[in-house]
Amino acid sequence: MPTTKTKPILLQPAWKLPANVKAVISTRSNDFNLATHVNDDPNNVITNRQQLRNYLPSEAFWLQQTHSDRVVKADISQTTPDADASYTTQKGVVCAVMTADCLPILLTNTSGDFVAAIHAGWRGLNDDIITKTILELSQFTPKEMLAFIGPAIDQECFEIGAGVRESFLTKDHDTSTFFIPSINSSKFMADLRGIAEYKLKQSGLLAQNITNPKICTKCHHNWFFSYRENSNTGRMACLIWKE
Ligand SMILES: [Zn+2]
Repeated sequence: MPTTKTKPILLQPAWKLPANVKAVISTRSNDFNLATHVNDDPNNVITNRQQLRNYLPSEAFWLQQTHSDRVVKADISQTTPDADASYTTQKGVVCAVMTADCLPILLTNTSGDFVAAIHAGWRGLNDDIITKTILELSQFTPKEMLAFIGPAIDQECFEIGAGVRESFLTKDHDTSTFFIPSINSSKFMADLRGIAEYKLKQSGLLAQNITNPKICTKCHHNWFFSYRENSNTGRMACLIWKE
């Protein structure tokens, strides 16, 4: 196991942020998996997390992600709480989510008062993790919030069964617009990004404050980990913090 690795390639989201807020997106370059639960050599993950740490003000506040709707306040005295979203108003605390096709959603506001990171697959979206995160931030005005939807699987690459669509429509029939029939019978292509934008707007965010560059992880699997491309895969991270 080599102890030295070349530097990771980290991306800056194409997102206009207040001066005191920083965000980065990791890529898979140099086998830069950051997850401990995905059948990777633990030493590789340790090395990668140590490398990432060089770019951050503190160790990232990692979550034990289970596709739940649990939202926690990022508190560095806690280690990897069982949750799929975190938020903080504290400087130097790094909110982070790991994904491979699911949606990473980063949040802040125009004055940089808080930051938040949300992991949302179809379950999290349907269980309203976005709305629940924004409710935790109710002292801030949604109209001043800024959201970024990171690399995730796009509609043309994301086929789901009829049951998944049905579970969305049962809760909110208006979400039917985010599903189109697949070429395979009784399957649908789901627009998770569209649903995320819809939920953000429902929570009061303005359309012009939602940045959604539509980078598909499966189409760009040379750059990003994609579970639908290969289920034995690593995880990338999207991270956000206040300086
Ligand atoms: Zn794609």
